[in-house]
Amino acid sequence: MKRYLSLFLALILCLSLLTVALGDGDEESGGQSECQHEWKVDTTKSKAATCESPGLKAEYCDKCQITRESEIPALGHSWGKWMANSDGETHSHTCGVCKKTDKANHVKGETWEKDEENHWKKCSECGAEFEKAAHTFDKTKWEKDNAKHWQVCTVCGYSTKDTKAENHKWDSGKVTKAATCVTQGVKTYTCTVCGATKTETIPLTEHSWDGGKTTIAPTITEKGESTFKCIVCGKVATREIAPLGLSMTPEELLTVQNMTGNALGGRLDDEKWVILQGVATEEEYARIQGGWPITVTLKVTDITNTVGEELTEEVQNAAGKQKIYCFLKMELSKELYQDPPIPVTGTTEPIILSLTLPEEIQEATSKRKERGFTVYRIDGDQAEKVAAQLSEDGQSLRLQTNTFGTYALTYHDTSTGSFDPMLLLYGAVGLVTLGGIGFLVYKLFIAPRREGYNEDDE
Ligand SMILES: [Zn+2]
Ligand SMILES: [Zn+2]
Ligand SMILES: [Zn+2]
Ligand SMILES: [Zn+2]
Ligand SMILES: [Zn+2]
Ligand SMILES: [Zn+2]
Repeated sequence: MKRYLSLFLALILCLSLLTVALGDGDEESGGQSECQHEWKVDTTKSKAATCESPGLKAEYCDKCQITRESEIPALGHSWGKWMANSDGETHSHTCGVCKKTDKANHVKGETWEKDEENHWKKCSECGAEFEKAAHTFDKTKWEKDNAKHWQVCTVCGYSTKDTKAENHKWDSGKVTKAATCVTQGVKTYTCTVCGATKTETIPLTEHSWDGGKTTIAPTITEKGESTFKCIVCGKVATREIAPLGLSMTPEELLTVQNMTGNALGGRLDDEKWVILQGVATEEEYARIQGGWPITVTLKVTDITNTVGEELTEEVQNAAGKQKIYCFLKMELSKELYQDPPIPVTGTTEPIILSLTLPEEIQEATSKRKERGFTVYRIDGDQAEKVAAQLSEDGQSLRLQTNTFGTYALTYHDTSTGSFDPMLLLYGAVGLVTLGGIGFLVYKLFIAPRREGYNEDDE
């Protein structure tokens, strides 16, 4: 019955459409009037859609009694938010319209969520948290920059750089490259926590100067100069030596040296300034005044056995009765600071020398004789007397000479010409006595006879 009804309705619909088509054709060809539908919802037939089921919209036109229907699609659920369930595995959501509830497993994210303390994973639907734990830090692994060090969670990669970074803790440092006078050194500091390093430049060291040499000797008034060399880099530097000033006099700068073992103990026996002026040239004296030391040395050698007969004869001729005791070679030399010794054959002024007389020749052969000594200077074959003076004790001889070379020492004894006052007294007394006796003899014996003669003559 229902099927027939449908068929019938379909037939009516076809007819009405055909009518409309024909009507249109009629309108063109003089036409008939058409229904202006006024649709009204058929509330008895219509049905509202639900979340899951479609609804129906039924309408009819009052004017022509035509009806029509259209389906209203299902509304679909109006799900609320997913909410985690207490089972820790699932979450549920509920439709706000029909209150239907759906349950599903959490959708775990692959990435870690994190804050300063912890890391965890999250359900992308309901936000439930899983595997929440504090960050894990490896105390041996540090991230660092020039100033600070920090750590990274080995699980989630969380970095404490922005929250807990600390300044490096530098140790006291090690010299990793020593500085020299030519190249700077390097000192390396290490962070005792993370092992970071930083370096510091060590400045150049001072040069390592050697002991230095006096390259310009200072004088009393002029400064000198020392030259130093760095034993590392070879750099050369000079340093002034202050002028000596007048702290030392030329006399103080003179050293008189008599050779030990000099024959007859020969020695220079004069004032230092006399010796100095005698031996030094003007130029040398200026240097000595400028502070250069000088040494004057006297060497006396007994050459008696080597002079030869000829010279001995010459001297003996000059010396006459005097006996030659010995021949001496006297050598004088001067040694100025840093110069080699120079022999001095002559001095500008005579210098006094002393000779010690051996005991064997100090005394004369008789007490009534006196011993005299003479010194001859021998120049070629000429023997010339030199002024010499015997000391009061008769043990040494001082001679003055300005020529150094070969000398001869002679001596001879002479009778003492001394006059004894007692002898004079005895003589006078003797003479007076003799005179008195003579007078008496004359008066007593000679005079009376002469008077007799006179008487006879007269
Ligand atoms: Zn209608
Ligand atoms: Zn629903
Ligand atoms: Zn969830
Ligand atoms: Zn972490
Ligand atoms: Zn560090
Ligand atoms: Zn150097």
